[in-house]
Amino acid sequence: MRYPLLFTPIQISNLLLKNRIVMTAMHLGYTPGGEVTDRLVEFYALRARGGVGLIIVGGCTIDPCAGMANMISMMDDTFLLGLERLTSAVKAGGAKIAAQLYQAGRYAHSSMIGGRKPFSASAVRSKFTGETPRPLDIQEIPGVQDKFAEAALRAVKAGFDAVEILGSAGYLISQFFSPLTNLRKDRYGGSFENRMRFGIEVVEKVRNAVGPRYPVLMRLAGNDFMQGSNTNKEARVFASGLEKAGVDCFNVTGGWHETRVPQLTMFVPRKAYTYLAQGIKSAVSVPVIASNRINDPGLAEEVLKEGQADLVTMARSLLADPELPNKALQGKEDQIIHCIACNQGCFDRVFQHEPATCLVNPAAGIESELTVTPSPKKKKILVIGAGPAGMKAAMTASDRGHQAILAEKSRQPGGQLLLNEKIPGREEILLAAKDLERNLKIRSVEILLGKEADQAFIREMAPDALIVATGATPLLPSIPGIHYSKVVLAWDVLAGKASVGEKVIVVGGNAVGLETALYLARQGTLSPEVLHFLMVNKAESPDALEQLLDRGNKEVCVVEMMKKVGQDIGNSTRWTVMAELKRLGVKIIVGAKAIEVTDAGLRIQKEAREELLPADSLVIATGSKSENALASLKDLVPELYVIGDAKEPRNALEAIREGFLIGLRI
Ligand code: SF4
Repeated sequence: MRYPLLFTPIQISNLLLKNRIVMTAMHLGYTPGGEVTDRLVEFYALRARGGVGLIIVGGCTIDPCAGMANMISMMDDTFLLGLERLTSAVKAGGAKIAAQLYQAGRYAHSSMIGGRKPFSASAVRSKFTGETPRPLDIQEIPGVQDKFAEAALRAVKAGFDAVEILGSAGYLISQFFSPLTNLRKDRYGGSFENRMRFGIEVVEKVRNAVGPRYPVLMRLAGNDFMQGSNTNKEARVFASGLEKAGVDCFNVTGGWHETRVPQLTMFVPRKAYTYLAQGIKSAVSVPVIASNRINDPGLAEEVLKEGQADLVTMARSLLADPELPNKALQGKEDQIIHCIACNQGCFDRVFQHEPATCLVNPAAGIESELTVTPSPKKKKILVIGAGPAGMKAAMTASDRGHQAILAEKSRQPGGQLLLNEKIPGREEILLAAKDLERNLKIRSVEILLGKEADQAFIREMAPDALIVATGATPLLPSIPGIHYSKVVLAWDVLAGKASVGEKVIVVGGNAVGLETALYLARQGTLSPEVLHFLMVNKAESPDALEQLLDRGNKEVCVVEMMKKVGQDIGNSTRWTVMAELKRLGVKIIVGAKAIEVTDAGLRIQKEAREELLPADSLVIATGSKSENALASLKDLVPELYVIGDAKEPRNALEAIREGFLIGLRI
């Protein structure tokens, strides 16, 4: 077996798991009123059948002040029937199931909790919600802790195999533990012991409620990543205390929602935070789970093999591919569709109160509505354009029994996804292209590369249906001087077809413009390997290293017409892109119109004033237009469809979704 450790059973108290893969809790937005819905049951039952060992659902709100109304509720017995339905379905699918007990404290916004004022250890304003909570009165504390115990008992009644107490990410237990948010002078504040007390008492109460052998897990921040707050050192001591109080397993993650250290985006290297799990593992004797950016069974096996943790979590990875564990177990890992940490379908939507979906798996969460069934009539389908929309359409059509042929004018499938290869922190997107390509090959879909499709070719192929997925081409603004040789396209820069001078202006502050600016600003900075080499040999001072990391060999400026840049980047990622641009010294000018390219640079107009910005090169990133000349060939084929950017330039989430839908329909 390729992943012997990953598929070795493990015991957590009285709970035996068939493997070491844990689907950690994830807010999905499938429970609008807190009640378990068919959608939620089907979603998790499918993942259970996909081979995961343990599914943790939630966060499950434990009282009316705990969190949003559309989270799974465990606050009273009226929710029991639905919860029982959920646990039965997951168990029938072959997995174990745990409930995460959620109390957000100052991370709950008053509008989410019926206008009530959120509570916390102390009245310290939350940057996450913009509100200041009220401090819990000492007499109220036992009642708040009891809610954890009551919800845990409800979990037992509903058939959950375990509970997980949420003590990470800056939620209530973290708020009591941190000196930043706990300014109390009573027995719950001040000293380190006092700050640990709230969490430890919660565990004791839960343990008393559920009995000695019922598994109690704890989700713990391995490091708050907040200046002045707890690090892995304090977390280790806390974990040791929590173990004594009755915790059977620790699920270790990174920092708080308020941290400026990215937790979930592509900027976070794969398995970046396993060292935090390793730290906790050194302090406790119970199993430890490593979390964050583990999206592949090979990577998971490495974590276990190196002894960093005893189990690993995969949440988004199972949103992306519910069958990942079975595929790994059956030696079909080449069929895995990986999570690429884009957050576009999941977190970005959930933050906007929309139900979660997935960029690489458009069926996620609606699998029972969008089933891939054999087509009653087998057709010959010609797809022109091997970008994400075209590849997904060909793959889905093939799954339905059609003969799919994919023609692509370039030498490599992937379309615009390939442009991400050089963008710092976006390299993972290439994986989406690679997964699609590999899956097409597995299905024996014919891929014709370097094939410029014209009328003669389409006539010769004589398809029953033609899918035009020819993508888009960059738009050039019509300003004087735009055809100067110093003007290049962002797409060409990213594709390595154009180079630029030292002083660069990027025109257009959308995602492509900002990412191109990042790529250029990073040129000449230290690579991770060189940084490591210089650090271990103490070759440069820490200050010099920081300088070498932050400044490359280009001076980059972005000019944007609108008042804000990066409006097409999701909330979960935008702030990390902006922070990187700032770190690398990229200048951003908003509300400025490019009016002329001159020998010296770019003339802009900002409000009533004109200004000349000196530049050696201008990089154009002002959007794109559909490339759909073939759409007019309706008379040539019985059926013709235009999808993806060829229909209207949008993002990869829309492109892949459209490819999937047309594949289902055709
Ligand atoms: Fe992963 Fe992106 Fe899918 Fe979310 S939307 S699960 S981050 S691939």
